[in-house]
Amino acid sequence: MKRLGQEDKETLTTALDHSGQRATPQRETVFGVLLDQRDHPTADEVYARTKSRMPTISMATVYNCLETLVSSGLVKQVNIEREPTRYCPNLAPHAHFHCRETGRVYDVPVPAGTMEKLTDVLPGKYQADSVELVFRGHLAKGNSK
Ligand SMILES: [Zn+2]
Repeated sequence: MKRLGQEDKETLTTALDHSGQRATPQRETVFGVLLDQRDHPTADEVYARTKSRMPTISMATVYNCLETLVSSGLVKQVNIEREPTRYCPNLAPHAHFHCRETGRVYDVPVPAGTMEKLTDVLPGKYQADSVELVFRGHLAKGNSK
């Protein structure tokens, strides 16, 4: 079983601490699952991957862990149309690209300040807490990555 690196562990502990929570083996394992394979898994996928590392964990616990990670700001929820919520541990500013053919979601880094610039289009009465940017389409032929 792959363990969380020291740096990731500190990130986890610090963020949980700020929101008044503790790092538990379950939370560490779920966070590790998200960091190891950054393909925006759904809760079901996170559960399957976590279970292979921690066979006794329940779906309810995985859900709780995901909720805790989201509320402490370590993981973002990604909602695409009517699909189940996906989870993304990438906290750097980025957009998502949703491939309609495969259903996969990719991270697209955006230059610093881009998301803030987008917020500038909002009239002053709308105060945004966050911005999400999702591109939809398909991968160009010959590009499997
Ligand atoms: Zn992402």
